[in-house]
Amino acid sequence: MATLEIRDLHVSVDVEDGTKEILKGVNLTVKSGETHAIMGPNGSGKSTLAYSIAGHPKYTVTSGTVTLDGEDVLAMAIDERARAGLFLAMQYPVEVPGVTVSNFLRTAKTAVDGEAPKLRTWVKDVKGAMENLRMDPAFAERNVNEGFSGGEKKRHEILQMELLKPQIAILDETDSGLDVDALRVVSEGVNRAKETSEVGVLLITHYTRILRYIKPDFVHVFIDGKVAEEGGSELADRLEAEGYDRYVSAAKA
Ligand code: ADP
Ligand code: MG
Ligand code: MG
Repeated sequence: MATLEIRDLHVSVDVEDGTKEILKGVNLTVKSGETHAIMGPNGSGKSTLAYSIAGHPKYTVTSGTVTLDGEDVLAMAIDERARAGLFLAMQYPVEVPGVTVSNFLRTAKTAVDGEAPKLRTWVKDVKGAMENLRMDPAFAERNVNEGFSGGEKKRHEILQMELLKPQIAILDETDSGLDVDALRVVSEGVNRAKETSEVGVLLITHYTRILRYIKPDFVHVFIDGKVAEEGGSELADRLEAEGYDRYVSAAKA
């Protein structure tokens, strides 16, 4: 069992003429086995939340806390966050020249576990996970992110999650034009990880369509840097029907 706790998190970014507060007091708790969807309009700060937890240098936490089982995540180095059981897809480099997917995964697994995986089982695990995600075995020999399509990037991200077996995974569904096929594969991966290893998932999304495949236990509506409303999966249905307008105008009033 693991618990990720975000308390009154305030985050700013540096802009040309000073700093701009993006997150304005976020409160959120994610436990093992739970799937939380964060939904909200573009520019509401969803990705900023993910980057902040990942420790992206552009984002400054000005107050508030993020803890994993009581341990201060914000005080951890980036690799310590992964070792503690957090999976943050965006913490990995965009492109790693000359490093194959296969080597990258093994290096990441070794770093997270503190020891190299046993070769026999590892090869089998990678093969099985790739089959699950309907990935061509040749993909393992490609260089990380080099010329990856949107769908390949997402599959690679889910492949990492399945192999690294984190306690809590934060997935920023940038909704970057995933086709239905990729969407389904990704969703199945998340559902599988939830069933087999009780991962807690924080799924960040703008569109409700992925929630046709992943049923969240909790939905949080994110408006202007904080959670404006919370509910169960029925809230996602309502958002699909009504959009965010009501929340946005309420926040402005
Ligand atoms: P979302 O993921 O919900 O679309 P973001 O977290 O990407 O929202 O952005 C929230 C707000 O913060 C936007 O107004 C965006 O322009 C601003 N922002 C995010 N990152 C940066 C950055 N690195 N520099 C300047 N502004 C940023
Ligand atoms: Mg506050
Ligand atoms: Mg975003």
